[in-house]
Amino acid sequence: MNEDVERTVSEDTDAATPTDGERRRFSRRAVLLGGTAAGLTAAGVAGYAAREQLKRLWWRLPGVDQEREAGAVDYPGAEWVAASGENWRRADRPYDYTVDRVVIHVVQGSFADALRVFRDPEHRAAAHYVVRRDGHVAQTVREMDVAFHAGNRPYNERSVGIEHEGFVSRASSFTDAMYRSSARLTAAICERYGIPRDREHIVGHVEVPGTDHTDPGTLWDWDRYLRLVRAVRTRTAR
Ligand SMILES: [Zn+2]
Repeated sequence: MNEDVERTVSEDTDAATPTDGERRRFSRRAVLLGGTAAGLTAAGVAGYAAREQLKRLWWRLPGVDQEREAGAVDYPGAEWVAASGENWRRADRPYDYTVDRVVIHVVQGSFADALRVFRDPEHRAAAHYVVRRDGHVAQTVREMDVAFHAGNRPYNERSVGIEHEGFVSRASSFTDAMYRSSARLTAAICERYGIPRDREHIVGHVEVPGTDHTDPGTLWDWDRYLRLVRAVRTRTAR
């Protein structure tokens, strides 16, 4: 209903899934039984390097996944509302892609708008989480998977995306409850992947290379947000 709801369009890059050819090229049989690989592993130090390489290739295999339990969430307390499978790509992070960024978004609409468009296969975009103005959190894509939220394939692959209910032009969108809840979520994500809690690693959609999006906008209080993120106590607080 709201045409202005943020459309984190992935365009040509992200909707692509590995072709059959790519799957075959990286198939387990090819990696483990291939003559090149066997030859390399026989050669001492070079063999060690090759095995490490093989390990990485193995984890890059499509279809080698972590366990997926229906309805499971990565952030305890989040409500699971599955996004359409057209709006994200199956992956095995952090084994296939290093996760080192959190990308902050603003919906340009309501919490319900965000969930509605994320469930719409035509939207071709979704973030991992949506935070409501009262602090309620929904998870819509698993963190192991690549959500199409940044409009930049490498950034989608390396990041967790968090949408926030509201509008960039309305300061009243950003409530205390929202900042606090989102900060706890971001701190937990940083903890899980060893991401430093700083502005280099916690970025706005506007800072993603090549984006034409402006969210979270100038009214988003980064100093306050970072202060809250850093204040969250976690096992390995930094
Ligand atoms: Zn955005």
